Amino acid sequence: MTRVSATVEWEQADRTPEPLHFAVGDGFADDLAPNPNAMLLATIMPAMHHGEDRVRVDGAICPRLRDGLVVALDRLWHATGRSRARPVAIETTEGFAPPTPRHPERTASFMSGGVDALAALRRNRLSYPPDHPGAIADCMLVHGFDFGGPGDPDLGRDRFERDRVALEKLTRSADANLLCVETNLRRLEAPGLCFPIESCGAALGAVAHACSGRLTEAVAGSSAAIRDGGPAAQHPLIDPSFTSSSAVTLRQDGAWSGRLDKIRLLSDWPEALDVLHCCNDPQIASGAVNCGACEKCLLTMTELLVCGSLDRCSTFEADDVSADQIVRLSGTPPAELPAEHLEALRAEMFHIDASGYDAWHDLIEPLERTGRRDLASAVSSLLRECDRHHAWVEQRDWKGRIRRLDARWLNGTLTRLAGVGR
Ligand SMILES: [Zn+2]
Repeated sequence: MTRVSATVEWEQADRTPEPLHFAVGDGFADDLAPNPNAMLLATIMPAMHHGEDRVRVDGAICPRLRDGLVVALDRLWHATGRSRARPVAIETTEGFAPPTPRHPERTASFMSGGVDALAALRRNRLSYPPDHPGAIADCMLVHGFDFGGPGDPDLGRDRFERDRVALEKLTRSADANLLCVETNLRRLEAPGLCFPIESCGAALGAVAHACSGRLTEAVAGSSAAIRDGGPAAQHPLIDPSFTSSSAVTLRQDGAWSGRLDKIRLLSDWPEALDVLHCCNDPQIASGAVNCGACEKCLLTMTELLVCGSLDRCSTFEADDVSADQIVRLSGTPPAELPAEHLEALRAEMFHIDASGYDAWHDLIEPLERTGRRDLASAVSSLLRECDRHHAWVEQRDWKGRIRRLDARWLNGTLTRLAGVGR
């Protein structure tokens, strides 16, 4: 592999200097550049979370990127009630100057084998003629985000390799190149920094800028919808200004589209059904692509079922979903569990986020229409449980308030006496 690297030195944080690198396969060596904009994007979120006052980069930074970062980080800071990391100053050794974009324009996309990335490629293929500069020519598979993240860089290397082989076949069939990029940028993370919510957008921008010799636009399949308005650093309304320069634009695709629409799109693409990978279960059996039991897997399987393609999706073993499997997602603990652990366990177990909630909700009507009332009713019950759980967490319902007071002042005595869960 060919690699570009820099050394990250800390001024306030008690950390030793750390190497930061980006690497690509030798066939793409000419496209990789020691790009100061990439280094800024890779370091700015960790710098904020480590309490640094500034990021000072060797070289020149694009003024468009600087301005976008200043606005986006200030917005995030205020959106979190100034409770999170404070924006840092951006300084350079060679001032601020717009980089020259490569010519001709060329588009790449980020590829993981997940629903959003596959749907972005599919939609692009259906929307752009092949010789248009907006047609995706390269798909970037990154090692160092999910695989080989902040911990052991070789963790999940075998799964990454398996995905690489499968995606090489898929991208070839879509007439695109698979470009593998390796980076260690997540090794800079501070404890408490939430990569998917806070720094994923900047990390994608860093990789795109490191490959600025090859692309002028990078497309990321959006996992967030426009309606998800949270103060996340990866959001379709923030990313373009947050991470784009005069040479490279980062664009999120598909934020206007629901997850079910994306699955519908993939259901007519047999090659996608052979690589679809949505499971993040670290304990997954070796050889399996998806576990078929976690919330993300069951959501995807139910969506495929509604679209009539679960039996054609070779990355899921089962051809059907049961109501029982969905109901069990509510995290109902076993009856023999001691009452004092019940609520803590529930709080840990219920982890459907806002976009997951909407995706489940969007399934109720299609399930009823396709004659799966059993699953529609299981999903409704799951969401009711989710609502009750969130009300409890936010202490809006009276039982939640009593339990909190009980746990705090009476050491759980009331809960034990009542022998209740909820
Ligand atoms: Zn799974």
